[in-house]
Amino acid sequence: MWRLIRITVLSLTLFAVAALTWVDRERTTDWDNTLWIGIFPINADGRPETARYIAGLERSRLGAIEGFFAREARRHGIALERPVHVELFPEVRQLPPRLPADAGPLQSIAWSLAMRYYTWKHAGGTLADIRVFVLYHDPGRTLAVPHSLGLQKGLMGVVYAYAERRMDGMNSIVIAHEVMHTLGATDKYDPETNLPQFPDGYARPDAPRRHPQAAAELMAGRRPLSETEAEMPDSLRDVVVGDRTAAEIRWLTPPR
Ligand SMILES: [Zn+2]
Repeated sequence: MWRLIRITVLSLTLFAVAALTWVDRERTTDWDNTLWIGIFPINADGRPETARYIAGLERSRLGAIEGFFAREARRHGIALERPVHVELFPEVRQLPPRLPADAGPLQSIAWSLAMRYYTWKHAGGTLADIRVFVLYHDPGRTLAVPHSLGLQKGLMGVVYAYAERRMDGMNSIVIAHEVMHTLGATDKYDPETNLPQFPDGYARPDAPRRHPQAAAELMAGRRPLSETEAEMPDSLRDVVVGDRTAAEIRWLTPPR
């Protein structure tokens, strides 16, 4: 009897989570209404330089992300004039839970629950549809940051960024990339080499000359210069959403 109840409760819980995930997916990719992306800045290294950068952040500095989504959505035939609105929220003073690089399946589940709790605690009462926690680092102190991530389950992202004005453009690329993951887009670079995958990771796979490419595909992240080299653009001006990514977030019917 108890066994039956336990199994029923567990099944219902899993069903509810699956149903909520499905509702989120439908709502965020119907492109009927403007999606609100909430940016929650965090001082990741506690440096005064980082604090100064965060204090000087303004919503207008994130405007490139809105412009990028509007431009690319239009190019892919979406009628909605403003697909996303980016809102800057006050600084969050607690770091998000960290997923260890060698985490096993149980640790990953525990982390994802902790991440959902963290999101609810710091961003729960806001109007944001998608919550992106941006961990700023002083580039003078931190040369390499961990991988950023975006989760479709829970509609949240964690972005590692640099607290330096001239790197705003690159930070915006990483934010846009992780937002795309929350909408269901997949990576389009080779995990071994980090090089963009052909054809889906190329901005213009049909260009008469394959290299160098003038722009980067957002989910590849870098612009292919040759068979073996690629570079990250300075800003979203030189980034596009490719057909495969557009299909994944339902801007296009998927190619057969
Ligand atoms: Zn990615």
